[in-house]
Amino acid sequence: MASSQAKVVSTILEKHGYQLGRYLGKGAYAIVWEAYFKKWRTNVAVKVLLKERAEAEFLSKFLPREIQIWKSLKHPNLINFYQSIETTNRVYIMLELAPRGEVMDIIRMKGACDEKTTGKWFEQLCQGMAYIHSKGVVHRDLKLENLLLDHNDNIKISDFGFCKYAAADINNFKQVQLSETYCGSYAYVPPEVLQGIPYNPFLSDVWSMGVILYTMRTGKLPFDDSNLRRLLKQMIKGPIFTQKHKAISIECKDLIHCILRGVSTRYSLHAIFDHPWMTHLVKNRPDYLQDMEVFYQPFNITKSSQRLMTVQHSNGHESFVKDIPIKSWG
Ligand code: ATP
Ligand code: MG
Repeated sequence: MASSQAKVVSTILEKHGYQLGRYLGKGAYAIVWEAYFKKWRTNVAVKVLLKERAEAEFLSKFLPREIQIWKSLKHPNLINFYQSIETTNRVYIMLELAPRGEVMDIIRMKGACDEKTTGKWFEQLCQGMAYIHSKGVVHRDLKLENLLLDHNDNIKISDFGFCKYAAADINNFKQVQLSETYCGSYAYVPPEVLQGIPYNPFLSDVWSMGVILYTMRTGKLPFDDSNLRRLLKQMIKGPIFTQKHKAISIECKDLIHCILRGVSTRYSLHAIFDHPWMTHLVKNRPDYLQDMEVFYQPFNITKSSQRLMTVQHSNGHESFVKDIPIKSWG
């Protein structure tokens, strides 16, 4: 950020009791800084969005949704939302600080995680996601760059820029709103999203969790996203393990196969918690899992029902904008 801009940010933060600190990272829409909040005597993260750089749809739809939903979520494995401040040119979002940064950076530096670390992180991801899904919310941008670490190396799910309510009736858990909005990175989205088929966003989050699990344990993404046709073919075939992966337990490989498969047989979060690789890791099995089974029902929708409008974002993300009518089960 140019120094004049940093000055403006610093002045606004000072006015609200924060002292600007070091640069933490950058996303498609935001620059993230560390700041010291004098009132709490604690360091926080401040996500600063420059409005003129963002698209109209992002400002009118995705950002208000991110703030509204994130505010309502509280869980030990989620980055806690503290406050947001809007000025004429910027939006500031104050968040719990994740001082150890992104899981992706750890894998880039050290390669594959061992079975124990993978187990700890994946179980924490499942706990956080079970909580989010139990609120009828889907994340839709799960990836290793959005999994941050606290000072004890615990997972903190972050970046709710593409989240939304996908359960039409949260109280009786009977309806799921299908999505046609393609969010996230090609490497992490399931084949049904890539094919442009209206998809169940709960099951799509689960697929992304499978990509995360494979990448944590092997150090490499399961599918090559440099060519979309090849990517789809590889996804349909399923993840591959070679001789190089012989240290990975059979149970871990099996769980990955149970997640990275077509919607009709893809595991629900409930089934993941009950998988043999998970049962020995899980101390507190969320008691609301039973009620959530209906969220993971696959759909039978023909390709002819597609009508997609593609929006190209500056970061290469594409959105198919249009939600289709609610489907329900009796
Ligand atoms: P994306 O390109 O993923 O859509 P974005 O614009 O929504 O990004 P974030 O993913 O929220 O922005 O943040 C960008 C980066 O800033 C993160 O990948 C991370 O490195 C850093 N960051 C974000 N929040 C925090 C935090 N709470 N603590 C520490 N670092 C953070
Ligand atoms: Mg991000």
